Amino acid sequence: MEDECHEIDLHSDGHFMLQALREARKAAAAGEVPVGAVVVCGGRIVARAWNQVETLKDATAHAEMLALTAAQQAVGDWRLDGCTLYVTKEPCPMCAGAIVHCRPDRVVFGCADPKGGAAGGWINLLEANPPLNHRCDVTSGVMAGECLGLLQSFFRDARERKKSGDADARRGSEPA
Ligand SMILES: [Zn+2]
Repeated sequence: MEDECHEIDLHSDGHFMLQALREARKAAAAGEVPVGAVVVCGGRIVARAWNQVETLKDATAHAEMLALTAAQQAVGDWRLDGCTLYVTKEPCPMCAGAIVHCRPDRVVFGCADPKGGAAGGWINLLEANPPLNHRCDVTSGVMAGECLGLLQSFFRDARERKKSGDADARRGSEPA
């Protein structure tokens, strides 16, 4: 009975979102906006990625884009049939477009992005997209508090760094 519970737990959305959160923490440690993603196929993680826009100097290097590319390599097909993408923040329009092209069955995200999200926050390219040829099931709000907390503390720290940087600059410009 215990084994069965363990089994279910290991395949839950929460378990895989925890893995995506681990990726997001790697992004934070590298000074990147902390978003992480994993792709799961047949109950197994086949790709992991974190946002690397600054590291790669590539505005398209969102966690989802990198995870999708890695998953296609792992699966050996651009079609991600039977796969689920887990990402800590609601995908943006670019990533949602890429997701539709790669055709995973499901997208599970943590915190919503009411301003720029393309999975229901601002627009919904994943579930309500008549001109596009694939539709994903979307599950939102999985470990949303943890996912949002990570982003909030990142931006709070960035503001504080900027404030103290500005103060240093003011001091530096004062005559000695
Ligand atoms: Zn994106």
